Amino acid sequence: MLKKVSAPKTLQVLLFIVLTLGFSYQDKFKGLRFDMVKHQIKERGIKDSKVLDAMSKVPRHEFIPKSYISQAYSDHPVPIGYGQTISQPYIVALMTELVDLQRGEKVLEIGTGSGYQAAVLAEIIDSVYTIEIIKELGHSSAERLKNIGYKKVKVKIADGYYGWKEHSPYDAIIVTAAAEHIPPPLIAQLKEGGKMIIPVGHQFQVQNLVLVEKKDGKIRSKSIIPVRFVPFTRGE
Ligand code: SAH
Repeated sequence: MLKKVSAPKTLQVLLFIVLTLGFSYQDKFKGLRFDMVKHQIKERGIKDSKVLDAMSKVPRHEFIPKSYISQAYSDHPVPIGYGQTISQPYIVALMTELVDLQRGEKVLEIGTGSGYQAAVLAEIIDSVYTIEIIKELGHSSAERLKNIGYKKVKVKIADGYYGWKEHSPYDAIIVTAAAEHIPPPLIAQLKEGGKMIIPVGHQFQVQNLVLVEKKDGKIRSKSIIPVRFVPFTRGE
């Protein structure tokens, strides 16, 4: 008799422990994310509420390899394998704010990496296209984005130098690897009035984050801040 009652009770206790641990694990990351947005992003001047909300929602720790999870919300880039990195949270916020996305717009990202920047974009708009040149990263990020719930993000494995013509023109283009020059196909695929943000410079030198705007068919570019990104590589 006793045994019959104790078995389900043990199960209940176990379930309670698992759920409590699970919730406090998620709460811990929520707290870290709140601090990240407050101290690294808002206090440095990012004001767009769409960007702040998106960065408060995306579970950045899910985009970080387990061995680096303790650094998921730290104020620096983190390795994601294959010699690549997920950008520093502030840089993701700054680039997203600079392209000034409005609901209903379409964006192209070059350099999917972990998929984090794409997820931040997907919190703001529905049409997110992203290209990754490293096959393994592209596949794992497509899977990760789907599993977390960012099902509408379209990932393509290719050399992003040529953009993604089929879905062009784009209201915004975000390039997350440092290019030696602005790829002309990306300029061509930018909508009139559209904005592109791209780090420009050589691998071992100071690169500049450049904001490009297309107005009356002409290009105007402005350097924003010095940055350090992984290089934009080229396919064969
Ligand atoms: N946005 C990413 C960080 C990217 S790191 C994130 O949120 O995690 C830069 C990425 O650009 C790397 O994954 C690198 O493989 C990719 N990359 C470099 N050159 C590229 C190219 N020509 N086309 C597409 N992706 C490229």
